[in-house]
Amino acid sequence: MKRFFTTETLTLAAIVLGVLAGVWFPETMLSLKWMGDLFLMLLKMLIIPLVFASVFVAIVSLGSGEALKNLGLKAFGYYFLTTALAVTMGLLIVNIIDPSTTHQLAAGEAITPPKEHSFASLLLSFVPSNIFTSLSQGKIVQILLFVIFFAVAVLHIEPAKRETLQLFFEAVNDAMGKIAEWIIKLTPLGVFSLIGYVIAKEGLDTLWDLESYVLAVLLALFIHALIVLPLLAAFLGRFNPLDYFRKVREAVLIAFSTASSSATLPVSIEVAGEKGGVRRESAGFILPLGATVNMDGTALYEAIAVMFIANSYGVELGFSQQIVIFLTATFASVGAAGIPGAGLVMMTMILSAVGLPLEAIGLIAAVDRILDMFRTSINVWGDLLAAKVLNRYI
Ligand code: ASP
Repeated sequence: MKRFFTTETLTLAAIVLGVLAGVWFPETMLSLKWMGDLFLMLLKMLIIPLVFASVFVAIVSLGSGEALKNLGLKAFGYYFLTTALAVTMGLLIVNIIDPSTTHQLAAGEAITPPKEHSFASLLLSFVPSNIFTSLSQGKIVQILLFVIFFAVAVLHIEPAKRETLQLFFEAVNDAMGKIAEWIIKLTPLGVFSLIGYVIAKEGLDTLWDLESYVLAVLLALFIHALIVLPLLAAFLGRFNPLDYFRKVREAVLIAFSTASSSATLPVSIEVAGEKGGVRRESAGFILPLGATVNMDGTALYEAIAVMFIANSYGVELGFSQQIVIFLTATFASVGAAGIPGAGLVMMTMILSAVGLPLEAIGLIAAVDRILDMFRTSINVWGDLLAAKVLNRYI
C-alpha cells in the first residue's frame, strides 16, 4: 500500500484533481494560487546556484577543454538534429491538417505588438557584461557562458587550487541536490494548485474555439515525443526509452505543471542522476544547456502557430517561405528562455521574417498557456533523453 503512494502517483492524481477542481471550483483554485507560487519559488531558488555548481563540476570532471569541446560539439549536433526533426514534424502535420480560424482580431481589441527579436539582438543577449547582473537577473545563457569560461580556466591552473575549487563546488552541488529532494516531496501540492489555477483562469472552452490548431500542435508533439525521440534515443544511446521515462517522469510532470524548463531544471538534474543513471558530467552540463537551447516542443509549436496564423489571414506560404519558417523557428527555440510564454514572444522573429503582422499572436494567445504546458513537457523530455544519449559518448 505504501508503495502506491509515491510522490509520482500522488503527482499524477494531483494533475487530474487539479483539472477537475479548476473546472468545478474555480474560485477556490484561484485563491489557492499561493501554493503553486510557493512551490515555484522554491524551485527557482535553486536554479542559479545549481546551474553554476553543476556546470562547473561537470566541466572540471571532464578533465580538459578538449573533452568539453568534444561533448559540446556532440551536444549541439544532437540538439540540432532533434530540433530539425521537430520543426519538420510540425510543418508536416500543419500542412496535412491545414488549421485556420475565421476569428478576426476585432478592431480596437488592444494587443500591443511585442518587441521584435532580431538575430543580432539574440546573439548579443547571450553574452554577459556583468556576471553579477546576469546572476541576479537569472540570465541562464549568460551564466552558462561565464561558467564555461571559468571552469575551462580552472582546468589550466595549479592542480592543488583546482581541487579546492572542485571540492567546493561539488559540495554546493550536493547540497542543492539535497534541497531539490526535499522540494520534490511538495510536488503533488504544487502541481494541484498550479494546474487548478490555470484551468480556473483560462477555462477549457477556449481550447475548442481553436480546435484544429490545438489538435495539430498536440498531435505533432505526441508523435515527436512518443515515436521520433524515443527511436532516435534508442538507436543512438542504446537504452530503453520507456524504462528511462519511468525513472525520470517526475521531471516531465513538473514541466507540465510549471510550463517552465528552467524551474524544472533542479528536478531534471536530480532524477536524471539519481534514478536515470546519467553521470554528472552529462547531467550537469547537458541538462542546463538543454533547458535553454534545446526546445523541441517550442520549435515545433512555433512552426505550426505561424502557419496557422498565415492560413487565418489568408496568406499562402509556399515551400521557400516554409524553409524560412524552418530556420527561424529553430533560432526562436534556441533563443526562447525556459519560462512560461517565452515561445509566444519569440514568435515575433518568425512572423516578421515571413511578413505577417506581429499583433497576429493575439489570435493564439488565449490557448497559449495550456499548449505551453505540453510543449514544455516535450522540451524537458527531449533534454532528459539528450543527457542519457550523450552519457554514452563521454
Ligand atoms: N515554456 C517553455 C519552456 O520553458 C518555453 C516556451 O514558451 O515555449 O520550455
